[in-house]
This record gives sequence, C-alpha cells and structure tokens, in this order.
Amino acid sequence: MQYQSTRDKSINVSAAEAIKTGLSKEGGLFVPKEIPQIPLSQLRAFPKMSYNERAVAVLSNFLTDFSDEEIAECVNAAYSKEKFETDTIAPVYKLNDTHYFLELWHGPTCAFKDMALQILPHLLTKSIAKCNSTEECVILVATSGDTGKAALEGFKDVRGTRIFVFYPEKGVSEIQKLQMITQEGNNVGVAAVEGNFDDAQTGVKKIFTDEDYKSLLKANGFALSSANSINWGRLVPQIVYYFSAYADLVKNKEIEFGDKINFAVPTGNFGNILAGYYAMKMGLPVNKFICASNENNVLTEFINTGVYDRNRKFHTTISPSMDILVSSNLERLLFDITGTDDNKVAGYMAALMRDGKYEVSAADKEKIQSLFYAASCSDEETQKTIAAVHKQYAYVMDTHTAVAKNVCDQYIAETGDMTKTVIASTASPFKFNQSVLIALEGLASVAGKDEFALLDALSETSDMPIPASLSALKTKPKLFNIKCEKTQLKQVVSEFLQVE
Ligand SMILES: *Cc1c(COP(=O)(O)O)cnc(C)c1O
Repeated sequence: MQYQSTRDKSINVSAAEAIKTGLSKEGGLFVPKEIPQIPLSQLRAFPKMSYNERAVAVLSNFLTDFSDEEIAECVNAAYSKEKFETDTIAPVYKLNDTHYFLELWHGPTCAFKDMALQILPHLLTKSIAKCNSTEECVILVATSGDTGKAALEGFKDVRGTRIFVFYPEKGVSEIQKLQMITQEGNNVGVAAVEGNFDDAQTGVKKIFTDEDYKSLLKANGFALSSANSINWGRLVPQIVYYFSAYADLVKNKEIEFGDKINFAVPTGNFGNILAGYYAMKMGLPVNKFICASNENNVLTEFINTGVYDRNRKFHTTISPSMDILVSSNLERLLFDITGTDDNKVAGYMAALMRDGKYEVSAADKEKIQSLFYAASCSDEETQKTIAAVHKQYAYVMDTHTAVAKNVCDQYIAETGDMTKTVIASTASPFKFNQSVLIALEGLASVAGKDEFALLDALSETSDMPIPASLSALKTKPKLFNIKCEKTQLKQVVSEFLQVE
C-alpha cells in the first residue's frame, strides 16, 4: 500500500518511507491511499484472539511492505509482560450498563502514549533498514511531560537508535521530572532547558532545520528523526485498541456482534480519536465519536461551527496533556472528509499559518457533525466528575479521562442516546495524583505532602495499588542533572553524540 501527502496527492511513498520521514517535505501528513477493510468475517475471529494477535491482524493491512513476521516481532517487543502491568494490555472496565473504560495506561509510563511509543521504535528501525539507510537514528524530543518519558521508555536500548529529551525546567510535574531524570538505558539523554515548553520546542525545531548541523551529523553516521504524534508510525498502532475494545465487549457478551457502539475520547492533538475514525472506516461498527476537550476548547468550537480558530487564550488546566491549540492530526480528518481534496486541505493549513484560522464548507461541517459530537468541560467540572464517579462506583479516573466522562454525560443529557459507550481512559490517576486527590478529598488532603506521600494517600483513598514504575522512582538514582540555556541545545546534543 502506498501513502500520499494530505497537501499534495502526487507525493507517494511506502509505509516504511512514511514512518522514516515522519512529515512530507511540503508540510503535509502521510495517509494511506485507500483505507483497507477488515471484513466482518475476519472481525468475528477477534474476540478469541490476544491483544498482540489483534494488533498483527490490523497492522498488516497498513504496513504492506512489512512481513507478518516482522510485524509480529515489533508487536511482541512492544506489548510484553515485562512492559505492561496487565496480560490483556488494554483492558476494558465495565462501569455500568452503558459506560466502559478502555484503560490505555498499563504501560511503563502510566499514560496512553505508551500504546504508540512502545512500538514506534521497532517500526522505525525496520523502516530505516527497508529504506537502505545505514545511519544511526537520533530522536530529539521537546516535551511538556508525558511524551518525553514515553519516548525514552520506548527507545531505551533499541539498537540503532539514540534518544535525547529536553524538558522545560519549569513546566513539568515533579513526578514527570523524576520519571525522566532517573531514565535508564545505554542510548538515552535528558536535559532541563531554562524556560518554558515553547523555549524547549523552539530550540529543538531549530536543530531540525539547521542544514549545516544535519550534514555534520550525517558525516558522523547520524540521522535526525522525531517521535511526534503526526508520524504515521504513532497513529497506526492506536487503531488496534478500538478493534480490541469492540472484540472484548463481544467476548464479554456486552454487545452482539455487529452492534454499533460509541467512543468518547479526551482529545488534544486529535491523534487518539482519529485512530478510532480509521477503525470505523475499516469496518468497525461505530455510531458516534464523542470528542471531549478541556477549557482549551478549540475542537469543540470547530466541530460545532466549522470554524477552527486558534486565536484565543491558552489555559493551563489540570488535564495538561490536552492543553493544545493546534490539533495537528485534524488535518488527516479534513483530507478524508473533503474526499481527499489536497488543494482544499493545503488552503486550510495555509490560512491557519497566516491568520490562525480557517472555516470548512457547510457540507463538510455536516459530514463531521454526523459522526462527531463535541463538548468541553472546566477544571471544576472535571473534579466534580472524578468525585461523583468515585462515590457512585468506587472507580477512580484521572483528570483527562474525567473530561471524557463529563462530556459523555452532556451528550446523553442532550441526545438521550443510550448506545453503549467506550470511554478512552488515557492515564493512570496516580500520574496526576495531586489533582485527583484534591477532587476526592479536598485541598487540605494534599497540603505538605511530597510526591510519594501523595501516591500513598491516593492508594489508600482509591484502594488501588500504586503502579510499580511510579513507586520505584523513590529509590532510583538520579542519572541526569544537565541544565542548559535555550540557546545551547545544539551543544548538548553534540556532547551527547560526541561530534564536533
Ligand atoms: C496525549 C494525551 C491525550 C490527548 O491525546 P491526543 O491524541 O493528543 O488527542 C489525552 N490524555 C492523555 C493522558 C495524554 O497523554
């Protein structure tokens, strides 16, 4: 199967090339030329299959230049007993007769980014080999929290790769910082940048566009690559768990085979929910996607009005992984909704660059609305939702998942639709322990507590065990104390790679 760019359909590449390059040269994103179908007859076999078998069955449709053995190697290296705290990888938890949580946070960093970043390094190294490149792959990441740690865990000790992560000195939580500076592995590096996330990101982007520096790296046998969420290799693994959740509902006799269900997804960059859209296009029976935002509700407005407008105040919320004003993966939905109209999409993206906004046609807006419902919720409502669900069901959600639950409730209140709904649960509540504890027990419950006292307190309140990877942070040696100014990122990378 070939892939094409969303901004220029004449650009065609293989899956391996799409994964290796990440972004098309004119700025477009790679999408499959046609969306493969999983016939119902094949889907019928899914309930009896393991997560890894389901993954091979889905991925082999997209990665046609990989053999089934190669795909299975990637899948088994990523979703293993050593890496995930549950055999089922992405278990479905039944809350009541209408709502189910698809728990995507049992991986090594306790957030759903693991679902993609555990497998991406393996897809990437195989892709590089298929493209006959011999350079060692250097991944540079600027992170506001979850992605950096998930990328470090995914790439650690993967042969043929090195990874360096920059995080803003002020701007990640204490636990996120601890997760990064205790990172083990023989090919990893971490540094704090003086400044905020934008400073770190701008610094990394500068390196990516520095042609002289890239030549120097190449002369030393290195090629830069990125692990960000527009890479097809990060999106495609996410399609799997939509099929897997459906198969589990059939297996547990919650639905009949062929019944349509809803998915509710806490959304930032539009990667997760878009993977669900592709699953539906492949044949998964879906009624509605519920797109949930926090106060940064640019997607809510877009889906409800057809106008995407990033010219607005940025809110720092208690669901920080959704604090995003430009949802990059939306471009792939626009391409599909417009009937793969690359000129139209290129025009929208140019307008977004120029004016910070664009508006889709009425017909396109209606198409989107027929499939997507969108709403948002404030921090206060998020906390109330965490408390209410805990009180009624003794189940504790993290802040991101709670946004989706709240928006689900809004959807039911508005539409009365009682279709069974799977809510994507994107992080362990322990990862956002402070906000979750405040929601459950009030502000006083966190006063004077350090990260580990917070973990203990949340464990007691929730009656859940602390994920082993988080409690282990207490005794892990701190391996990195590099701090740099925002103008010094290149020097830090050079020292890491020992190039002059
Ligand atoms: C990244 C992230 C999201 C948002 O996912 P997108 O694919 O960017 O829409 C939601 N919740 C958590 C915990 C995340 O880390």
